[in-house]
Amino acid sequence: MLRNDKLLININMNSHLYKTGWIELICGSMFSGKTEELIRRLVRAKIAKQKIQVFKPLLDDRYQADMVSSHSGGRFEAQVVKKPLDLLPLLDDNTNVIAIDEVQFFDKRIVDIAETLANSQRRVILAGLDMDFRGEAFGPIPLLMSKAEKVHKLRAICMVCGREASRTQRLINGHPAHYNDPIIMVGAKEVYEARCRQHHIVPGRIHQPITNGKQPSFLDNLTH
Ligand SMILES: [Zn+2]
Repeated sequence: MLRNDKLLININMNSHLYKTGWIELICGSMFSGKTEELIRRLVRAKIAKQKIQVFKPLLDDRYQADMVSSHSGGRFEAQVVKKPLDLLPLLDDNTNVIAIDEVQFFDKRIVDIAETLANSQRRVILAGLDMDFRGEAFGPIPLLMSKAEKVHKLRAICMVCGREASRTQRLINGHPAHYNDPIIMVGAKEVYEARCRQHHIVPGRIHQPITNGKQPSFLDNLTH
């Protein structure tokens, strides 16, 4: 009996490969704790003696270029790749948990890479912004949402009202950024805040709230 128990423990400890792969997506606005959640899952995988590799896109250099860090101090070494395809040659054969942070910055080829990895019996954990500052879907996230087995949407706290925030407000020189403002504005002072739907202000977007019985402008294209 004792021998069987010991055998079972050994099998569990040595089963480095998951029997089946899958994709998990953690998404939400800025300040919603995505990287925190990613690191929490990686810590648990590490305790379970899984072989982990972490990747992130080249353009994110908020902290250290070779780390995925959370605000509470958790950190994992990350390999920085420019394109989704660059990830495959870096993969170790015995890696069974693959994490990618800031996944929204990759192009849509990341969907094929994630699918390939999951089909190769790997657990793929992705984290990224679901919407840009305009409230529009971010890059490959919609496709990843449809392909993932598990999707976890996190929310932050609205800086205006204190309710749950689902969106990222961009402020340029203290004012809400216009829908058509370029992503990079040289010399401008930019701040980002978490906001709820009601307090997410984007001048110039088509989905403005209905006021005084006026027909929303996007309906003009649908009704004529
Ligand atoms: Zn609010």
